[in-house]
Amino acid sequence: MKPRLRFAPSPSGYLHIGGARTALFNWLWARSQGGTFVLRVEDTDQERSSLDSVRAILDALKWLGLDWDEGPEVGGPFGSYFQSERKALYRESVERLIREGKAYRCYCTKEELDRAREALKQQNPKAAFVYPGTCRDRHDEPALPHVVRFKTPRDGSTDFVDKVFGAISTPNHAQQDFVLVRTDGYPLYNLAAVVDDHAMEISLVARGRDHIGNTPQQVLLYNAFGWKAPEFAHLPMMLNAKGEKLSKRHASVSVQDYRERGFSPMGVLNYLVRFGWSFGDQEIFARSELIRVFDWERVNKSDGKFDEKKFADVAFEHLKRDDLTSLDEYVDWVRPFLTARGIENPSNELLHAAVPGIRERARTLVDAASDLEFYFRATPEMDDKARQKFLTAESAPRLKSLSSALAEVTSWTASTLEEAGKRFAEREGLELKHFAQAARVALTGRSASPPLFDVMAVLGREQTLARLARGIELAGA
Ligand code: GLU
Repeated sequence: MKPRLRFAPSPSGYLHIGGARTALFNWLWARSQGGTFVLRVEDTDQERSSLDSVRAILDALKWLGLDWDEGPEVGGPFGSYFQSERKALYRESVERLIREGKAYRCYCTKEELDRAREALKQQNPKAAFVYPGTCRDRHDEPALPHVVRFKTPRDGSTDFVDKVFGAISTPNHAQQDFVLVRTDGYPLYNLAAVVDDHAMEISLVARGRDHIGNTPQQVLLYNAFGWKAPEFAHLPMMLNAKGEKLSKRHASVSVQDYRERGFSPMGVLNYLVRFGWSFGDQEIFARSELIRVFDWERVNKSDGKFDEKKFADVAFEHLKRDDLTSLDEYVDWVRPFLTARGIENPSNELLHAAVPGIRERARTLVDAASDLEFYFRATPEMDDKARQKFLTAESAPRLKSLSSALAEVTSWTASTLEEAGKRFAEREGLELKHFAQAARVALTGRSASPPLFDVMAVLGREQTLARLARGIELAGA
């Protein structure tokens, strides 16, 4: 049987990078096994869920290339894939448990429970409050406000084998009669997740280990319904340098932030995959390679420390290497960053010619757009310092004769231009350094750029000569 996996985000914000890591592991396994990756939106908490969040999460997943086979926008045989549209199913399921004596309506008010909690605190400040089961055998009065609680067996234990953490056994007396349905009729997470994972025929549930404490309750529910539980794999956490749960107080934690900072999708995924999975010492993976080598045997339980510097290094490596990011991809990705700098419709041809010269150095697509900008401005913005330093009266006649020498070049390539430059230097008794910086500033507006003759080749004859002419003017000739 091909595995069916799911990612089940609650749409109460952006896609957290921890969530993206969870989605990635599920997606990788589905893709490597020819299985199915389901996206289910857990939006039963109306106050915290929003459509904007749903959109943000779907966008981030699409950008990462974590495509889903069933779920919002694509549909599928087990829809709806929004929990808010599946309430009838949760209601029926819970009614069944009540009928079978496996769940009960609890009429205890919040005030009563608070009083009991307070009384316990007086007696023993350290004891954790456990619902005492007051309504377990109470007569049903469905018209009164109530929650529905699961009737947890008092003896025995609930056991499951986690694919990462191994055998986990929880004594039932340690679990309380947990709430399945709130007073307002909304199902709580454990109930909805179990009903859906069963209905959607999920075979393996992989999620953060912050959910491991929910799993015994879910297993109790599977047993009560008489359903076979899926396999479970809990994944270690991403922590900050101090070993605390990673939050936006410590670092950028939304996928969107990294997108805006100019990381590539695979740069992000490659860094995230190392949280809980490793493949020897290998650091860098192409997407297809990850799909090929990912397996559960190599998933480990040690939490990982998030390191933004490392993240940026991995992301840069992906952008730099053309075996990881093709020129076409690079061009597509950098385009919006150029548009953001006010360059409308940057020419495809020019981008293809210019990107190879800057990708070695540009650590992000934001840097890349900044490095590329001068190519797209008819008159490049001049850095004042560079201009004052290099476009001097002394440089003007040199630039002039360089320009005439270049104008003679018939086949306009970096190597023929370089040769022409060298011949010119020899003739004038100059060295490259005597005119290269002035030419660079004239062509690019800056004192640092890709190699000079490469820049000329990419700019083309007309632009090169026009920019040199302007440089000569600025130099005051
Ligand atoms: N909606 C839950 C969350 O976002 C899903 C947990 C699970 O995968 O079961 O944490």
